[in-house]
Amino acid sequence: MKIVFATKNEGKVREIREMLAAEDIELCSLNAFAQAPDIVEDGKTYLENALKKAKIISEFTGETVLADDSGLEVDVLGGEPGVYSARYAGEGATDEENNAKLLGRLKDVPPTARTAAFHCALVLYETNGRWRAFEARWPGLIIDERRGTNGFGYDPIFLDPAFNKTAAELPPQIKNTVSHRGQAFALLKSHLCPA
Ligand code: IMP
Repeated sequence: MKIVFATKNEGKVREIREMLAAEDIELCSLNAFAQAPDIVEDGKTYLENALKKAKIISEFTGETVLADDSGLEVDVLGGEPGVYSARYAGEGATDEENNAKLLGRLKDVPPTARTAAFHCALVLYETNGRWRAFEARWPGLIIDERRGTNGFGYDPIFLDPAFNKTAAELPPQIKNTVSHRGQAFALLKSHLCPA
């Protein structure tokens, strides 16, 4: 079975290829389709964005497509930054700028009230227009101190209380089993390859 993953991020593709390694699935990235259209992620939810990407790329490539969208939601901020996670501090903002903006918004919020969760929506879109969604969340706390060097985005300030480590301190193999994306992909894997 061939699946096009609607991302140009080869790191993400590698992660998912590893998860599906034992299965008879050929996963390729959007880098194999130089003319693929750029997609504006303007949905109000992760699911809307993932579905939009998956549908457009499936119609463009004529293949079954997988697309994902994710972000961080902080409870006391009413779910901010949410679908704006990548551009919280403005279009083209760096991870550090986004982290600094978030910590600024939380400066008067006590540690125990800084509950948050990463969310991920994955959509598998077939050439006949049928699709399925897989969603998962990873709860934690936002801390002031940046800790760890793994990962990306909000990882250095997102603490998983079960490990007492930030996402950036967790080895990638551990992060992939507990994270929002890892859990959503595990659901997809059980769908594609039922035991
Ligand atoms: P994407 O939809 O996977 O590209 O994620 C959108 C944005 O959400 C990223 O640019 C990050 O700011 C944030 N984000 C999503 N997943 C993670 C994660 O696992 N760690 C840290 N930040 C994340």
